[in-house]
Amino acid sequence: MLHMNSRQLTGVCQSHITWLDERLGIHKGMVDAWFLFQQAAKSDGFSLKIASGFRDFERQLSIWNRKFSGEIPTKDANNNIISFESLTDEEKVNAILLFSALPGTSRHHWGTDIDVYADNLLEANQSLQLEPWEYEENGPFAPLTHWLTKNSEKFGFFFPYDTYRGGVAAEPWHLSYQPLADICMCEADISCIEQTIKQADILGKAIILEKLPYIMKQYVHNINTSTRPSEIR
Ligand SMILES: [Zn+2]
Repeated sequence: MLHMNSRQLTGVCQSHITWLDERLGIHKGMVDAWFLFQQAAKSDGFSLKIASGFRDFERQLSIWNRKFSGEIPTKDANNNIISFESLTDEEKVNAILLFSALPGTSRHHWGTDIDVYADNLLEANQSLQLEPWEYEENGPFAPLTHWLTKNSEKFGFFFPYDTYRGGVAAEPWHLSYQPLADICMCEADISCIEQTIKQADILGKAIILEKLPYIMKQYVHNINTSTRPSEIR
């Protein structure tokens, strides 16, 4: 059975990753499943592509620190920019977590999770935004959403963020390879994350460590479990 060490689980190292091109990596144990899935999509007319696969700790940390400091804007659920100056550190943490994972807890660290789209469904003048409207009815990827909903499970993939559950916002582009991701979620326990945060140069460290049990419950474990056996729900 697969075992991932804490450095792999938190994206600090990438020895679990196979690089499909210079910027796109996925978990070694998922490569065959991905190609089968991509081939099935192609047979049904979709040029299925990965916009984002493995993301390392440093990259997630950079996003986090730039959001926390206000260098890049953080948006609310209605896509409005939040004014950060008046927020407490705890409010900043919760605001960022709607769309960006705490470094060390991103499922993209595992290499088992991918953001997908179909490049043959984009018009020549359109570029990918990774916004929900693109995947909803009347959006360019609506046919892809139907196909993924019908076919993902057969290939081992599921949508962890299929709907908003009070934690992470819905992400209709984010697929997870369940046989490996379930193991990663069990292994990436709170002590593993706590150690990683303690060692990191991260903004909001004190409040993150204080609220870590809540963050794990609300943003990391609070995902779609409809396709899993009951013992891990
Ligand atoms: Zn994603």
